[in-house]
Amino acid sequence: MTLLELAKKQGKAKVAIAARVDGALKDLSASVPDGAAVTWVTPDDADGIEIVRHSTAHVMAAAVKNLFPDARITIGPAIENGFYYDFDVAIPFTPEDLAHIEEKMAEIVRADHPFTREDLPKGEALKRFQGEPYKVELIGEIPDPTVSLYRVDGFLDLCRGPHVPSSARVGAYKLMNTAGAYWRGDSKNRMLTRIYGCAFASKKELEAHLHLLEEIKKRDHRKLGRELDLFSVNDDIGPGLILWHPKGATVRRIMEDFWRSEHARAGYDLVFSPHIARLDLWRVSGHLDFYRQSMFSAIEVEGQDYQLKPMNCPFHIQIYKSKVRSYRDLPVRYAELGTVYRYEPSGTLHGLLRVRGFTQDDAHLFLRPDQLDEEIFSLLDFTLFVLRRFGFEKYDIYLSTRPEKYAGTLESWSKAEAALKSALERKGLPYAVDPGEGVFYGPKIDIKIKDMLGRSWQCSTIQVDFNNPERFDAVFVGPDGSEQRAIMIHRALMGSLERFFGVLVEHYAGAFPAWLAPVQVDVLPVTDKQGDYARDAVAALRKAGVRAEGDFRNEKLGYKIRESQLQKVPYALVVGDREVAQKQVTPRRRGGEQLPSMSLEEFLGILRGETENPPT
Ligand SMILES: [Zn+2]
Ligand SMILES: [Zn+2]
Repeated sequence: MTLLELAKKQGKAKVAIAARVDGALKDLSASVPDGAAVTWVTPDDADGIEIVRHSTAHVMAAAVKNLFPDARITIGPAIENGFYYDFDVAIPFTPEDLAHIEEKMAEIVRADHPFTREDLPKGEALKRFQGEPYKVELIGEIPDPTVSLYRVDGFLDLCRGPHVPSSARVGAYKLMNTAGAYWRGDSKNRMLTRIYGCAFASKKELEAHLHLLEEIKKRDHRKLGRELDLFSVNDDIGPGLILWHPKGATVRRIMEDFWRSEHARAGYDLVFSPHIARLDLWRVSGHLDFYRQSMFSAIEVEGQDYQLKPMNCPFHIQIYKSKVRSYRDLPVRYAELGTVYRYEPSGTLHGLLRVRGFTQDDAHLFLRPDQLDEEIFSLLDFTLFVLRRFGFEKYDIYLSTRPEKYAGTLESWSKAEAALKSALERKGLPYAVDPGEGVFYGPKIDIKIKDMLGRSWQCSTIQVDFNNPERFDAVFVGPDGSEQRAIMIHRALMGSLERFFGVLVEHYAGAFPAWLAPVQVDVLPVTDKQGDYARDAVAALRKAGVRAEGDFRNEKLGYKIRESQLQKVPYALVVGDREVAQKQVTPRRRGGEQLPSMSLEEFLGILRGETENPPT
């Protein structure tokens, strides 16, 4: 009996596209051995959607070969959200070509051609793929004496399978774009043309995904950074180096002010350190051995080598070591908005998210071993407080434990891991363990924040370190007068200001909450007649600490309101004759909501309520 016959018997023929037989994935055309354990695979499960996606790639390749018989086929796997297929063609496909390919695919789907499988000796298979050099190359590398081929609508491909039973069973799909890709990802090989497609089990899921892609495009921080005049990257300055324009710089200043005052309040000492230091410092810290590929080249000064700093740690350790520390002085907490420089290949740079110069909201804590538990617990609390203020309420949390190669003793590792774990549990935070993914110097907690679109961003990290206190001999004098080794914690909450700002821009789609907005209020006189009154209002708002601007251009009110909305300013205050006569303003929220006319004092009350207690 075949699986399809069994599926029909069990009423599963409409939902099943393949099956697991004794654990192995099989086509529905395969036969079922007696007594085998069969579970049905449907497009809604992980195996099923992958089969659907990969089958869609075959249908697309069939359409391509039909329309472009000279295209040479290579490989076409399923990927996240869809599939791709690489073709060797003389001229890359155009968007019009993709539309034709999509039409042809629809034809193949409508005709409901079966996917058929053949198992052949390699010699036979090679004959079938004459004129397809990439397939010939692939067959040559398969160790088995036989290979399997799949056919749909006359299109033959080398494939392990399984596939959907027929072309009508592929789900909802859309061809997205093309890209250049080297054969086997090697730049020495020929450049192929890759077609990317999305594929989902249902039309509804496809549409939700396309909508998400639209949203992502709309929120792209590089686009919004231009439109809102927040920042730029300039080739004359250099790739991966950020210019903060006045509006972006204002947001950064507010982020920094908040950060500094909260750190002072939480018992941190704020420090500053230079951007370069002797290369030898990085030899002691181990960075020259473990991190050199991420560092800029050394700079020679008076016959001595200096290094742009990739990290702030050694500086803070040196401040700690600048005097004798008693056990009573600990914990010592040094925090710095420390600008570091790291080499990243130019091809990987991306707006604010991946750069070569950035400012970490860094801190290094020096503790006695008995302080570890409590310190990590309050640190976790502090981290979440900061993230919440910026509107991030959802996290993915990972606890990374001891890797194979590690510094320090087994005992101190298990103590530190237990401290991290108990802090997470006391806070009631769900987390996943990443076994062996700790840094060589200690275990860590990584917090990925989830943005408005549900995307995860690695930002906060809390790392215990046994190694640096040893390398730099960071000690304190214990109660018995003996020297003891301090434990260090490295931690960053936002991670990098550049990256965090980029994430914020996308999270809020550029519409920052009032406390962060670079301009909080636009004052909009209806005509020139109210110009003086409007100027006074701007001055009064600024005097009250509000970031206010006025639009005194000779433009229609509707135009000014639209401009203010496009710039995503939280409030526009309209002033016409009536407002002047009654000494009032008429506030309008950026979403369009109109508030009743009120005095400037009353408006300030509303704005203060929002900025002093931002919704968390
Ligand atoms: Zn295949
Ligand atoms: Zn550090």
